[in-house]
Amino acid sequence: MDRLLERPALRALQATHGRQPALQAARAALDAWRESRSPFDPEAFDLTVDRSLRAQAQAALRPVFNLTGTVLHTNLGRAVMAPEAIEAVMSVMQGFSNLEFDLGRGARGDRDDHIEGLLREFTGAEAATAVNNNAAAVMLVLSALAEKKEVPVSRGELVEIGGAFRIPDIMRRAGCKLVEVGTTNRTHLRDFEEAFGPKTGLVMKVHTSNYQVQGFTAAVPPPELAALCHRHGVPFSEDLGAGTLVDLSQWGLPHEPTPAQSIANGVDVVTFSGDKLLGGPQAGLIVGRKDLIARIKKCPLKRSLRLDKMTIAALEATLRLYRDPDRLAQRLPALRLLTRSQAELKAQAQRLLPSVQAAFADRAVVRVVECRSQIGSGSLPVDRLDSAGLSIASPTGAKRAGAFPERVARALRELPIPVIGRIEDGEVRLDLRCLDGVEMEQRFLQQWTQLRTLR
Ligand SMILES: *Cc1c(COP(=O)(O)O)cnc(C)c1O
Repeated sequence: MDRLLERPALRALQATHGRQPALQAARAALDAWRESRSPFDPEAFDLTVDRSLRAQAQAALRPVFNLTGTVLHTNLGRAVMAPEAIEAVMSVMQGFSNLEFDLGRGARGDRDDHIEGLLREFTGAEAATAVNNNAAAVMLVLSALAEKKEVPVSRGELVEIGGAFRIPDIMRRAGCKLVEVGTTNRTHLRDFEEAFGPKTGLVMKVHTSNYQVQGFTAAVPPPELAALCHRHGVPFSEDLGAGTLVDLSQWGLPHEPTPAQSIANGVDVVTFSGDKLLGGPQAGLIVGRKDLIARIKKCPLKRSLRLDKMTIAALEATLRLYRDPDRLAQRLPALRLLTRSQAELKAQAQRLLPSVQAAFADRAVVRVVECRSQIGSGSLPVDRLDSAGLSIASPTGAKRAGAFPERVARALRELPIPVIGRIEDGEVRLDLRCLDGVEMEQRFLQQWTQLRTLR
């Protein structure tokens, strides 16, 4: 082993990766050679050690190209941060900050102070707080305001969001008793009226973000439900899910309800996500009546669910961008991606086509295709955005493609920056909506020379 380690190739690896890791990799390679009972090949040995050290050096969590066509993709990290947010996170990571320190009074402060003013400004609410994600926000609101009490919810709104967030389960965990009201397709004000009793602690409305009930339907208009709740002296909460702070229809996107509308409708507490349409870091935002937010902040669960300084920094910087709505679609990556036009995407697809076709040579037929992007994260589930991209098809045609699309998808995932597409109709489709900017396009183009053989 000592002699092996003294060789120039192994010395170089020790210098790059450190002595201990190189030693361990060399030992493992030596063991493997002994087991193989083949003649010793020094070059093959060096290569094995090099490969295993490189594999170890690769971070487990790393960047990918999201060409699935789903902009807010939960499995691929949801919203991309604005440069302002990234800079803010770096500055609080590098040193100390006034996270919980009031610089004016020179005394202990509250971490929510950095974002409360902005949230009040954009929602019209009296007060605001924030936790780890929206699921936590809903849990906290229920636990703080309705523990051991009844919570009426319309049967049409007993939603399941991907990843085991189900309203009935959250209710049970928060110590509340769910009272189902109305029917799946129709719920009336009188249904709620009948559900009220001495044990009612909160009425909850849930935005049905990932499905739509269509046909013979009826829901209670929020202002009427708010009035009913207030007559009974019961708080009215609404879980909005995506929670965009601006009217998306001004950019030709489908309309999604805003927290400001909920507050104007008389809702007392609104919960929504930070990393869906808002385009910020993962967070659960809670805005509403001052007395109720104060109760929520006093709940012991709040301490367990509170935000860290990096998230607060990113959230504050993201919220600040909303002060300049005219430039929001350029500055907020989530919105910029959602508003890219099909014409722009088609031109980009034409630009990329030669490089991708060259990488596959005669192994695949690469074409420019029109496709439809999704907003994602359960937002606006039935709406699609006209988009464009590349399709990679078998030269034998889709019918006889067999495992071809899976083999292509695997080769794309094995690129230095993995490319994640979608398999459809026996082809691999790469929706270019989320491949935005010159720099990113360059990085995408550079790596095609490293495409492996399809296996
Ligand atoms: C997405 C969503 C949630 C969960 O939000 P996270 O930020 O993912 O925890 C809760 N309720 C609704 C209606 C949602 O759409």
